[in-house]
Amino acid sequence: MSGLAQLGIWNDPALHDALSWYLAVAENQRPAKFRIAATVATELDLSTCGEDALWTELERLTTIFLERWQTIREGAPLPPEADGPSLLELCRELAYRMLAHCNFCPWNCCVDRLAGAKVGACKLAAGSRVSSHFHHTGEELFYRGTDGSGTIFFTSCNMRCLFCQNGDISTDKDNGEETDPRTLATMAWTLRREGCHNINWVGGEVIIHLHSIVDAIALLGRDFVPTSAEIRRARRTKADGFFWFDEVSEAATYDGKFNAPILWNSNFFIAPEAMKILRVLTDVWLPDFKFGPGRCAITLARTPRYWETVTRDISLIAEWGEDFTIRHLVMPNHVECCTYPVLEWIADHIPAAPVNVMAQFHPDNFCDPASTKYRGKYAEIARRPTGAELENSWRRASELGLNFETASFERRGAFAGPALMEL
Ligand code: SF4
Repeated sequence: MSGLAQLGIWNDPALHDALSWYLAVAENQRPAKFRIAATVATELDLSTCGEDALWTELERLTTIFLERWQTIREGAPLPPEADGPSLLELCRELAYRMLAHCNFCPWNCCVDRLAGAKVGACKLAAGSRVSSHFHHTGEELFYRGTDGSGTIFFTSCNMRCLFCQNGDISTDKDNGEETDPRTLATMAWTLRREGCHNINWVGGEVIIHLHSIVDAIALLGRDFVPTSAEIRRARRTKADGFFWFDEVSEAATYDGKFNAPILWNSNFFIAPEAMKILRVLTDVWLPDFKFGPGRCAITLARTPRYWETVTRDISLIAEWGEDFTIRHLVMPNHVECCTYPVLEWIADHIPAAPVNVMAQFHPDNFCDPASTKYRGKYAEIARRPTGAELENSWRRASELGLNFETASFERRGAFAGPALMEL
């Protein structure tokens, strides 16, 4: 048993219930979904099939996958991998087909990113760049555990949050190093063997890199072992490269082959087709839910259709019975228009979902008065939330009966007692 499973945070039964699949995969008691997908064979010749036929096949194989996933959850052994193409390779093929008329997210730019002559709202062609990858010790305790969350930070974004807390990578698409799927797989392979509890794909935003990530995951599901040149290449962006981590292959295997929970850490501005691919690859989801149903997503992030997209996508993972936790960042002057409606929607639709009501907003990017990028028109949000704004947010979450204290207050040890008493 790793340090993750021994943490007292799992004494919260709601959290344990919500993340039981993730924990079982992290502990290598169950195979990750990508390992199951590799067992679901397809008879199609993927490279010559039309895209419509590929989507029909995804639907058919997803049904088989879900039945298999259920039996494996209940303790059945993992069947042998498919000899030929499988659901894993089908997902990869579909991601690249989508890239040729990109509709990964609701911008639906329909640009051919493989050709690269035109780019869409994310400004990316087919390449993917990684800013850094490392053992992240700043995520929620159930993700960072004792050895860190194996986090891979991608550049650029499909939203324009003027306060972005990762503005250096979300607004600079050329940050970091160009990577290919084998280098990405090497990063994940190494982080997991070094003890990370999960592979945490994040940005910027990750959905705009769907093809690269799915390609890397497909490699990991098929006996991937990096070359020494690939390991050296991956290390160029390893932010904790000066630390020494013992590599233990058994810490990263199920039934003798590579295993790791896939954590999708995203703004959730994702198209439904992309969600269908992610469904059979993602073991645990970490959606951001920032803005209320009014115009704030437009004025603060220049993102239309935000509320309907994010509520639809969160509803989907809840209906699918997925493991997930939600993050909501409390923004100054946006408690009534954003925080309250977000919390109320969660209470109305998915009341058992673990929620992190986050206090760490700081003025950054275009609302940081100390930055040359600062714009005076964003003065309303150019400060930290007040104590009253945070207190009101947590009090509303409490009144609504949300499952938020463990995720929001774990650094205070508040899950051992009633957190709001401390306010
Ligand atoms: S990922 Fe989204 S923003 Fe980027 S090209 Fe595709 S549809 Fe447009």
